[in-house]
Amino acid sequence: MKTSEVLANRLPDVKEIHIVWMTSGLSCDGDSISTTAATLPSIEDVVMGNIPGLPKVHLHNPVLAYEVGGDFMKYWHMAAQGKLDPFVLVLEGSVPNESIKAEGYWAAMGTDPHTGQPITTNEWIDRLAPKALAIVCAGTCATYGGIHAMEGNPTGAMGLADYLGWNWRSKAGLPIVNVPGCPVQPDNMMETLLYLLYQVAGLAPMIPLDEQLRPTWLFGKTVHEGCDRGSYYEQADFAHEYGSPKCLVKVGCWGPVVNCNVTKRGWMDGIGGCPNVGGICIGCTMPGFPDKFMPFMDAPPGASLSTSVVGMWGGVVRKLRAITNRTVNKEPKWHHRGPELTTGYRP
Ligand code: SF4
Ligand code: SF4
Ligand code: SF4
Repeated sequence: MKTSEVLANRLPDVKEIHIVWMTSGLSCDGDSISTTAATLPSIEDVVMGNIPGLPKVHLHNPVLAYEVGGDFMKYWHMAAQGKLDPFVLVLEGSVPNESIKAEGYWAAMGTDPHTGQPITTNEWIDRLAPKALAIVCAGTCATYGGIHAMEGNPTGAMGLADYLGWNWRSKAGLPIVNVPGCPVQPDNMMETLLYLLYQVAGLAPMIPLDEQLRPTWLFGKTVHEGCDRGSYYEQADFAHEYGSPKCLVKVGCWGPVVNCNVTKRGWMDGIGGCPNVGGICIGCTMPGFPDKFMPFMDAPPGASLSTSVVGMWGGVVRKLRAITNRTVNKEPKWHHRGPELTTGYRP
């Protein structure tokens, strides 16, 4: 029996589940927008019940919701009061440090009906995290701080694991699940969310995560290991300007040391993936992003040594392959007309 048939025939432990998706971290909403391009599965398939075995899924995302104002915020208040159970919390955007200033706030969503004051992002996390079955961080801001956590920033921005603690566990015993990327790759996000929905419905084992809390099957390989341009690198054939089809390491590609699968997976529906389509990898999925990859477009520090080493034999290999390529581009000499057979056949 196929996996889909097994799932279709098994009832989930819960009939309905909510996804409460906060974009009120320090965020540009790019991860919500990116996720609308997912196809494996699409958001539509998940919320419309087209996936075998899933409980009914209700999505509450401020960028995608039809409701506005109080009609929308009621789900947040219900979740905080324990009346929206069970739910998976998604955080998009980094967590500012509200403890480092005397007045005002860095980020908030909605107002407290009793005080009329804004409810800060920190406060929402404090209220919702203990009640969530699982928490997923969408994008590098939520996972590791990202752009807003650059050196010199005034907000003390950080990722959720820095805020809640790297050993934090949900009430169901799950660690935070990080899906980095700036923005997050659409199918990476939806595939992880789908896995967790199956897991909290009792239909999948514990999600496998690495030390940075990333799904191992998505972030176990480097950009370089899946890159279309890898053979140019191997033959020491490097681009020195944009627009070239060759390896981009000398114009700033960090792919050899960055964990990301977009060169294998593509971006939308299998198409794209930064170096495959001419863009250098700037390490946007990494905990050290952006500071450790700047200035962008300069060759990475190790690139000149590694390309010199590759260059020693890569150039020779390229020349030898060119000779072989010319040979195999010619037909064998016995393909000819006339009374003589020259194939080497012996009767
Ligand atoms: Fe925007 Fe990138 Fe941050 Fe996502 S990770 S909120 S896309 S800046
Ligand atoms: Fe590796 Fe980047 Fe070159 Fe691709 S373009 S082969 S990822 S260095
Ligand atoms: Fe980010 Fe590099 Fe992956 Fe592109 S290839 S998404 S820049 S980590």
